[in-house]
Amino acid sequence: MNLHEYQSKEILAKYGVAIQRGFVANNADEAVAAAEKLSADTGAQGWVVKAQVHAGGRGKGGGVKFSPNMEKLRENANNIIGMQLVTPQTSAEGKKVHSVLVAEDVYYPGESETKEFYVSILLDRALGKNTVVYSTEGGMDIEHVAEVTPHLIHKETIDPALGLQAFQARKIAFNLGLEGNAFKEFTKFITNLYNAYIGIDASLFEINPVLKTSDNKIIAVDAKVSLDDNSLFRHKDLAELRDKREEDPMDVEAGEAGLNFVKLDGDVACMVNGAGLAMATMDIIKLSGGNPANFLDVGGTADAQRVQTAFDIILKDKNVKAILINIFGGIVRCDRVAQGVVDAYKAIGQFPVPLIVRLQGTNAVEAKILIDEAGLPIHSAITLEEAANKVKEVLGN
Ligand code: GDP
Ligand code: MN
Repeated sequence: MNLHEYQSKEILAKYGVAIQRGFVANNADEAVAAAEKLSADTGAQGWVVKAQVHAGGRGKGGGVKFSPNMEKLRENANNIIGMQLVTPQTSAEGKKVHSVLVAEDVYYPGESETKEFYVSILLDRALGKNTVVYSTEGGMDIEHVAEVTPHLIHKETIDPALGLQAFQARKIAFNLGLEGNAFKEFTKFITNLYNAYIGIDASLFEINPVLKTSDNKIIAVDAKVSLDDNSLFRHKDLAELRDKREEDPMDVEAGEAGLNFVKLDGDVACMVNGAGLAMATMDIIKLSGGNPANFLDVGGTADAQRVQTAFDIILKDKNVKAILINIFGGIVRCDRVAQGVVDAYKAIGQFPVPLIVRLQGTNAVEAKILIDEAGLPIHSAITLEEAANKVKEVLGN
């Protein structure tokens, strides 16, 4: 589960990580009020208005605007709220902006230069350990840095039993070229950041940029946090931060129904029990000349209710030209699944696309008879090859 920047920053602040302060606003009036409050609290002379969507690269898409005065701030808030923000990380249609973060300007001039760094924390799956990835080349696209100047990206692996140790924090600060007060501030910053990562069971922290201000403070200007979904049961407060508007509506509905669903771009939908069989089914769809419209694992109990919910979700996708059901009756009996399919098919009434059903395993023969005798235009198959040929046939390939 991903969080908005403003939510991420609130969490970091609780762990003592210095952040660029700000308030979230849903309209221009709220944005002005937020800026006034910031000036009163922090003496901010300028503000930055930042689109709150689950995508990076907002600056490039025009979703981050510096505002030197209140008129400009109101104008920026008006322009950004409600806009369809397209960034290098969104689709071509972009994401609708519902709110902005109004933050204090932290790029003010001073005794020394400002400097942007890149810091992320994530799990290195090969090592089975959390890793801090960092670079002096902050503020830009880290993929670009990795491609052009990979030697400027450093990694520090954390021993899970010891956590981030003081010498590691100092090493990172040193490699970033920091000294004096900024060095001290950074060691505190990275230590608290790591504690936050562990504390909230995150799976990714990406702070780009971490800023050294002109008066040598170290603060998080951006914050991207992904939480480990498997840990949400013990973080009820964090689970509530979920913003479903940022997610694909089909994914949300499938999640609520307990279906393991991933939407894809193809034309043949599939409904399968077991993730491995689902992958194999997608291969078969490809081989028969189609393209999978989704990955869907309905799990062990493919009863009528579940099958119908799955149909409802699949049929929302207008690209779908055919549906292939591929169920292996191991624990579940094929004839029961067949009955579920027939019931769901009847319940939907006008079924808009051809349906191919392949049931194999316990009571597969009874299942095929049940479907063939239901008097519905369902194509039944017993072998995978047969099913693939039927898909080919209905697609006209
Ligand atoms: P992203 O584009 O989605 O990664 O959003 P960021 O939060 O990283 O902001 C993009 C860029 O906006 C940063 O790299 C900064 O250069 C700029 N920016 C962010 N905050 C401020 C600020 O307070 N003042 C000024 N002048 N620029 C800022
Ligand atoms: Mn950023």
